Amino acid sequence: MTNSSFLLFSQAKDLILQTAKSIKCSQIESIKSSNAVNRINAKAITSPINVPSFNNSAMDGYVIRQADLANSHSIRVAGSVFAGQKQSVDWPQNSCLRIMTGAQVPDDSYAVIMQENVQRVDDHISFDASQIKAKQNIRYIGESVKAGSEIFSAGEKLTITKLTTLATLGINDVTVYQPLKVALFSTGDELTSIGEALTSPNSIYDSNRFTLSLMLKALGCEVIDFGIIKDDLTLITNTLKQAAEQANVVITSGGVSVGDADYTKMALEQIGEINFWKIAMKPGKPFAFGKIGNALFCGLPGNPVSALVTFDQLVRPLIAALYGRNDETPLFTLKTVSDLKKSVGRVDFQRGHIFSNNEGELVVESTGEQGSHITSSFNHANCFIVLEKDRGNIKQGERVTVEPFDSYLL
Ligand code: AMP
Ligand code: MG
Repeated sequence: MTNSSFLLFSQAKDLILQTAKSIKCSQIESIKSSNAVNRINAKAITSPINVPSFNNSAMDGYVIRQADLANSHSIRVAGSVFAGQKQSVDWPQNSCLRIMTGAQVPDDSYAVIMQENVQRVDDHISFDASQIKAKQNIRYIGESVKAGSEIFSAGEKLTITKLTTLATLGINDVTVYQPLKVALFSTGDELTSIGEALTSPNSIYDSNRFTLSLMLKALGCEVIDFGIIKDDLTLITNTLKQAAEQANVVITSGGVSVGDADYTKMALEQIGEINFWKIAMKPGKPFAFGKIGNALFCGLPGNPVSALVTFDQLVRPLIAALYGRNDETPLFTLKTVSDLKKSVGRVDFQRGHIFSNNEGELVVESTGEQGSHITSSFNHANCFIVLEKDRGNIKQGERVTVEPFDSYLL
């Protein structure tokens, strides 16, 4: 059943993005492009050169003038042009030139004929003139990129392929956003840091801080780790204050629900402007969002699957927006080969696995148990199966919406 006190997932996301867009918290810096993989570009990049920067041959072959089409039964090869060759070659009328891929073509060239399409006898070639089209196999100046044209805008992620484009333009330095500073801590008396021995039979490992830290770093953030904070109002309040002084964003996990030890809510009511939301999403119903001083605050639920899903669905877009980016992942629909349990009233982000069936059709299967504590549901997942709020149980063969994992989760 839909409960009117629940916020729709789309409303929560819109509110978060609106807040992020009104804030500019990133400083910029100039770095070598070789150190810029996955950093966020902060200034529009225009090309300093034309690409290609000169007309050149796309093939190993022979370059001819238009008048030579009439001599196609036999034409003399007057010389050769190589890639990188500095001097121009002497090219008498009524002759052609042997030319290599990437070599500069002379100004009055009509076309380059692939060497496979000519018959060569000693220093003469013949070819079928009816097959030759003007400009064929010639790469013209500026055809790929015009000098002065914009290549990448601010907010784009400098992936390896984008940096490759910059390398073809000789660009060695880029202006990027400095990493956002994100303070992170977990709350809970039951938590032990990984690497330490569990202190009691009731303690568990603090996997959330580990995971959230990895995800933040993968998104280019600098993590300020405040560790595990006990379920104690004063400790939590003081840590939140300190964290907000040092960071652009403060992220916590646990303690945002309605249990007796959920002190994060009380602490925030004293020192921040926070909204506690019950979002109509599964997993991840309790979520807190707001500000402490100048820092934005996200309070994630404690259950590990919920923490991971709410981070991916709400915090990742927030971080992207703070960098001036729009991080929408494309959604599409596929047939499910599993029955899916779903109750009406909340949007579900189930973990799924897209694969190609025996007929070569892409389909999706469930990864099994979907409880918010079952992190193994991620083990062989490569997507979310996004089941709309008003849908109920789903039978195999029905079409469902899938959202492939962003590359940082794979
Ligand atoms: P809470 O939101 O604090 O009520 O926690 C909900 C559930 O998540 C409880 O079973 C907690 O033990 C568990 N949990 C809370 N924080 C973490 C954490 N950092 N790592 C792993 N599990 C956690
Ligand atoms: Mg707790």
